[in-house]
Amino acid sequence: MQQRNIAEVIIDNASRSVDKLFHYRIPKDKLDKVQVGVKVLVPFGKGNNKREAFIVNTVFESEYKQLKEIYDIMEESPLYDENMVSLVKWMRERYLCTYYEAMKTILPTGIGMKKAKDKTVRMVYLMISNEEALDYIEQMRVRAPVQTRVIEILLENEFVSSADLVSLSKGTHSTLKALHKKGLIEFKEHIVKREVINTKKYEKVKPHDATLEQQNVIKLVMENIKVNNPATIMLRGVTGSGKTEVFLQVIDQLIVIGKQAIVLVPEISLTPQMVERFVGRFGSRVAVFHSRLSMGERYEQWKMIKNSEVDVVVGARSAIFAPFNNLGMIIIDEEHEYSYKSEISPRYHTREVAKQRSKNENAVVLLSSATPSVESFYNAEQGKYQLAHMGKRYNNASLPDVSIVDMREELINGNKSIFSNRLKEEIEHNIRNKQQTILFLNRRGFSTFISCRSCGLVLKCPRCNISLTFHMHDNALICHYCGFKRENVQKCPKCASKYIRYFGIGTQKVENEIKMLFPDASVLRMDVDTTSKKFSHEKILNAFKNDNVDILIGTQMVSKGLDFPNVTLIGVLAADMSLNIDDFRSAERTFQLLTQVSGRAGRGEVAGRAIVQTYDPDNYTIQLAKQHDYLTFYNDEIQIRKQLKYPPFCDIISIFVNGVDESAVIRRINEITSTIKEKIFEKDAHQYCQSILGPTTAPISKIKNKYRWRLLLKCVNNHDIREILREILYDHYADRHHTGLNLIININPINMY
Ligand code: ADP
Ligand code: ZN
Ligand code: ZN
Repeated sequence: MQQRNIAEVIIDNASRSVDKLFHYRIPKDKLDKVQVGVKVLVPFGKGNNKREAFIVNTVFESEYKQLKEIYDIMEESPLYDENMVSLVKWMRERYLCTYYEAMKTILPTGIGMKKAKDKTVRMVYLMISNEEALDYIEQMRVRAPVQTRVIEILLENEFVSSADLVSLSKGTHSTLKALHKKGLIEFKEHIVKREVINTKKYEKVKPHDATLEQQNVIKLVMENIKVNNPATIMLRGVTGSGKTEVFLQVIDQLIVIGKQAIVLVPEISLTPQMVERFVGRFGSRVAVFHSRLSMGERYEQWKMIKNSEVDVVVGARSAIFAPFNNLGMIIIDEEHEYSYKSEISPRYHTREVAKQRSKNENAVVLLSSATPSVESFYNAEQGKYQLAHMGKRYNNASLPDVSIVDMREELINGNKSIFSNRLKEEIEHNIRNKQQTILFLNRRGFSTFISCRSCGLVLKCPRCNISLTFHMHDNALICHYCGFKRENVQKCPKCASKYIRYFGIGTQKVENEIKMLFPDASVLRMDVDTTSKKFSHEKILNAFKNDNVDILIGTQMVSKGLDFPNVTLIGVLAADMSLNIDDFRSAERTFQLLTQVSGRAGRGEVAGRAIVQTYDPDNYTIQLAKQHDYLTFYNDEIQIRKQLKYPPFCDIISIFVNGVDESAVIRRINEITSTIKEKIFEKDAHQYCQSILGPTTAPISKIKNKYRWRLLLKCVNNHDIREILREILYDHYADRHHTGLNLIININPINMY
């Protein structure tokens, strides 16, 4: 019988020049061990240097004659299966990345590249008999009391960690060393599990009785799961309609039939509260994946999934690659969120990867949102997705009553504060009635800046063409792009005038004003500054809940996912901040944000209300958000997209060049523009290409001293177009003349800067 004695591998190397599948002969004695998913060591290049490689296939023969032989097996148990290999190949084709980049992405950091180690703890054992030990205690009690205590502790325990032993005996590590030298104790390294979730801490929660609306959705999803239908289902449900409860109950049923589920949530809504709900229901059968885990912790969660020790993973974007072997469903909660798009290579969209996995593995994709992305809802309307709807809040709670306050009028009436009179009154009312308030400050697409009133100079980062932000806490000016920091100025650096003015509002300023207006109110602030430490996020939210703090001030982080029944008032301090940014998605963003944030109010017994402050009260988007009218918003927006040919009616591909030498950057982007035009002509691909915009300098023309130029293609993202772009990308990196110039191609980017 012929053997599959040739292995096809991806070389562990980032260079585009080795972005191919290589063939190696499998040594006879390793034939039974070499299989897909195994990591091996191979000779590579002229010098036959040792390289790590990932097996993606085994074959009978090769068109290459002189094959080298695999040196050795590095990792015997397979890290991935054939489905994952097919996903790697698909990602490479789809996102113009290399095999290696795609492979690196499906495996957690720590595996594959540098190996994450099991966590070990040094344990101490007694090396003498009990009699000898008792003897020792007798003799040494007075002369060496600390050493004696160590022996006493070890008499009662088979082993104790050295750290515990030191603290229990009130000794030091040299105490242990001394005992070790005398041959009385021995050290052994134990492998221990890292605790990511403290399952004991969470109370077991029983499923609720599903409402009629919920039952219908659960039924629809289960019907598809049971017959392994790789369908995508779009669940549109108003905030508080019990979408999360639906997830939990579907997973309940799916586990019974032996399947597994991936639950994706946006990074910022992966709150302890969310984790609590899943762990409360499924106990230790849940893994958690997010960016605050250490490399080792992530490795361990990954291993639990791989070994089928869990049925559910709850995680941010990268959890889409969880290596389950019988995947039944992928849930994408808040599917409209931008954090589902990766902005580093491979620049994938989680929704697209989910659909691809669903196809490969016959799993259901459930997209869930109160405000679906225009693209997804269009697909649902076109019949590509099944559509489910939940229009009522649980318990028939009403949606919050949204009022719009015109800030221009406040100014005319002499109110220069951040807060309108209406909002002030409502906050006061809430404090008096012991109800909670969330104040939301939209910081996206907008930043505070400092300028000179005499000459108009705006203080900018010397390395990036972007204004500096004032941080009250350390009286410094900071660049949010590169971290550049300088002392605050007293005088204008250009004209020496003393009249420096601060524009915009930050959370610290909001907090200060609140403290002045309501000195007795308890206030918490949640933003990047207060949540940089591990668990700080959790601590703030726990304090808000348990200590019944009056007011929580925050940025994007407080806008979604929070479910606090005592929150009855939401204040949106500046609603228009994201309306005026130069992006075709700005109306959609604003609508989603206002809906999500006002949805935090009135989730309990008492009805909620939201006060939205704006300088543009008649704005259509804001008005529709006030009415919670998604369908009208969608119908208008889809018309605009159609007329102007924006997604979903075409794809947008951005081609970026950056570098320190601006003239070289311009030369290169011009060359690329001509090459694209030539290739489109050669391949007869103009029917796919709507228009080529630019090249122009990017909206932020310089970051970290690197000049940035950009070209935009409005086109159909198909194989032909991608082949053209791939050639350009590979040629760019193969040519040493382009050293120092980065070329980035991003398909349907989220950030247009
Ligand atoms: P969404 O995810 O749509 O915002 P949630 O699932 O968070 O909604 O539900 C809102 C609140 O209603 C939660 O506190 C949840 O526990 C509660 N809830 C939802 N469905 C039920 C149900 N069938 N029975 C009891 N409580 C429910
Ligand atoms: Zn000046
Ligand atoms: Zn900077």
